[in-house]
Formats: sequence, C-alpha cells, structure tokens
Amino acid sequence: MRALFDAPFAWWLAADWPLALAAVLAFHLALYLVGGSVASWMTFRLFPALDIGHVIDNQPLKPKQIRTELRNGLMTCAVLAAVSLAYRPLAHGIWPETLWQAAWQLGAFVLFNNVYAYGTHRLLHHPWLMRFHSVHHWSVRVTPWSGYSVHPLEAAVIGGTFVGFMALVPVGVGTIALLHMMGIVFTSCIHCNHELMPMHADDHWLKRLVSDPKFHQLHHERSRVNYGFTSPWLDRLLNTLGR
Ligand SMILES: [Zn+2]
Ligand SMILES: [Zn+2]
Repeated sequence: MRALFDAPFAWWLAADWPLALAAVLAFHLALYLVGGSVASWMTFRLFPALDIGHVIDNQPLKPKQIRTELRNGLMTCAVLAAVSLAYRPLAHGIWPETLWQAAWQLGAFVLFNNVYAYGTHRLLHHPWLMRFHSVHHWSVRVTPWSGYSVHPLEAAVIGGTFVGFMALVPVGVGTIALLHMMGIVFTSCIHCNHELMPMHADDHWLKRLVSDPKFHQLHHERSRVNYGFTSPWLDRLLNTLGR
C-alpha cells in the first residue's frame, strides 16, 4: 500500500527536469482549481442554502474580478511549480519515518510559516515593494480565488516558504505536497468573505489561535493590520492586530 503512495514521488524526484516541471505544474493547477471551486461552492451556494454564518463585506465585486483573480492564480501556480524544482534537491526522502517525526515536522512548519509569512508580508507593505503586493490588494472584497491572486514576485516569496523550511528541517517531498494541499485549503478559506463563527466573540480562544475570514478580510479593507497568515498571534505580539 505504501509503495503506491511512494511511487509518484520517487518518480518525480528522479525525473528529468522538464517532465518534473510538467508534473508539478499539473499538481499545483489541480490543487488550485479543485480547492478554489470547492471553497466557492461552499461560500456562494452551500452556506447561504444552509443559513450558516453570513457574508462579511457586501460591496459588489469589481468588474471582471474573478476572471482577473483566476488569471493571476494560474500564473502563481506556474511560479510555484518552478520553485518546486528549486527545493527538489533538498528533499529528505518522501514521508516521515514515525508519527512523532510527522508531528514534530508539522509543528516546526506551523511555527516557521507563521514567522516567515508575517515577516515577508510586512516587508511587502514597504512602499518600495507595495507595487508588487498591490496586485493582491486589488481584491478588496475577497473571494476564494483572491488567495493566489498575487504578483509573480510575491508568488516566488510564497514558494520560498518551502525552500526556507526544507533548508532548515530535513523533510520528505510527500510531506511538502501535503503541506501544499493544506495551504491551498487554508488560503481559500481565509479569503471566503464569510463569517463562519458569528456566535463567537473576537476574543474566543479559536479566533485567537487561528486566522479566520473576518481577520483577513479586515487586512484587505484597512491594509495596515492583520499581517498574519495562519494565526493572529504575531499581530497581537507586535501590535498590528485589528478587529
Ligand atoms: Zn489576502
Ligand atoms: Zn497585505
């Protein structure tokens, strides 16, 4: 059974670079299109039908907003695929050897990703770099497709998360693929513009621990608050938290 999961990754690690690039591009495109479609269906169809939560920002979308976000998102997939080739030589095998190792790698990634995402996001708000980051901020009322709607330079910075992490922590390529999957789900979720827990106050322990759509929508509205990606803890620590 394990050999079945190992085979595509073992092939990819050994493949010539044009084939490896084509395969990883297909992987990123599939993740992006499936993840964004499912999140859109939930946001625009399922939640309203079941009367779950409510829309956060009601302003109309910009003309051709979703088309523009999709175009940028497809470019982001291409950049992420190219960056994947850069971290291929850094892979330590495919999967963790033990459950303990898996838990340790996941914890280390969550910590690294929080610090890296907050730091690079604040840098991107520097006046010299904001012209690149403004591609992402063009979406004020966000949609699940807004997450990957970034300038190619910012896409390379996002891909750099995995290069930086793999340079510091020995980790397998299967684990990195799973982290990519979790990343696209989370990115689509925090850009869904739907308050999923309206019954809970903003200081509820879950909202203090994990970023939610309202937290990130506020970043798109006010720009200088809520730089964190998966958690608001660095915003709380560094006084950039907005609610
Ligand atoms: Zn965003
Ligand atoms: Zn920003």
